[in-house]
Amino acid sequence: MKKHNFSAGPSILPQEVFEKSAQAILDFNGSGLSILEISHRSKDFVAVMDEARALALELLGLTGKGYQALFISGGASLEFIRVPYNLMQENGKAAYLDSGTWASGAIKEAKKFGTVDVVASSKDENYTYIPEGYTIPADADYFHCTSNNTIFGTQMHDFPETNVPVVCDMSSDIFSRELDFSKFGIIYAGAQKNMGPAGTALVVIKEELLGKTGRNIPSLLDYQQHIAKESMYNTPAVFPVYASYLTLQWLKNQGGIKAIDAKNNQKAALLYGEIDRNPLFKGSAKTEDRSKMNITFLLNNEAHTETFDKMWKVAGISGLNGHRSVGGYRASVYNAMPVESVQVLVDVMKELEKQA
Ligand code: PMP
Repeated sequence: MKKHNFSAGPSILPQEVFEKSAQAILDFNGSGLSILEISHRSKDFVAVMDEARALALELLGLTGKGYQALFISGGASLEFIRVPYNLMQENGKAAYLDSGTWASGAIKEAKKFGTVDVVASSKDENYTYIPEGYTIPADADYFHCTSNNTIFGTQMHDFPETNVPVVCDMSSDIFSRELDFSKFGIIYAGAQKNMGPAGTALVVIKEELLGKTGRNIPSLLDYQQHIAKESMYNTPAVFPVYASYLTLQWLKNQGGIKAIDAKNNQKAALLYGEIDRNPLFKGSAKTEDRSKMNITFLLNNEAHTETFDKMWKVAGISGLNGHRSVGGYRASVYNAMPVESVQVLVDVMKELEKQA
């Protein structure tokens, strides 16, 4: 039986993406070859890469606005390094918002390149909220933030107004909600949540920001080189890019970000509604900063843990345990998660209440 997969990533993808990907492993586009054995320079794969890059921009509303989309390897973590390499001046300064483990990972790497001004942090309360009321220094080369904190279940619902280029790690909420994406200088995301399997990352860059640091950037870390080579500087992750392309096509067929945003609101309202109603549970993130992608919650009385864990597993739910650093529960309800699966979880929570 197919599980209800609430895993934080790698995570659920649309069923049609699994089916089409499986078919392409056997025979890609009727070529008599598997997608796993074709050249990345083959006509059919070059078309996939080109269309995936164009589709990413189209879905974000950035076509014709001076942006480039790349599918590159190294995961979101390599962007922690590529970003300062490409945007921070020699002896320069960047501003970072410390809203979680991944944000602090980005800060750690940026410090190796120059001065990092951590404008605010929510570490004092184990990252259960999004800091606010901070000032971004006007002389920073860029401001870096994490739109959704996968581990703690918090999400930025507003972004600061600033003249400094905004760089955003959107690994766990890219393509999930309507935003004015043209307010960002760089957006990056590991594929393995809302976009595809692990192995590639999407980087969307406002091209005019590049080439201004005076640094001698190693080629593989240089966004300009990847743009010049149309995301084929070296062999790209052919299969993850293909599966990501299928997911983007699925999203477009669903009605794009606007339509999925409405569905994501519905799913989040259903589960948060139950967390707030059911006396056995409580949410772990500050209410105003709750994430619509990673819903973190706790049992009020840990004595129910064994029963609850048994019940959700019997109901066919998988991947509900919180991150090892925080415990509790985390339901990741990415774009591909059907509302019916969220209902299964809500029903288990109600059943626990009846039995308790
Ligand atoms: N940023 C965020 C917000 C994440 O959730 C993750 C992975 N869970 C990363 C960065 C790191 O991504 P990767 O493993 O692709 O390097």
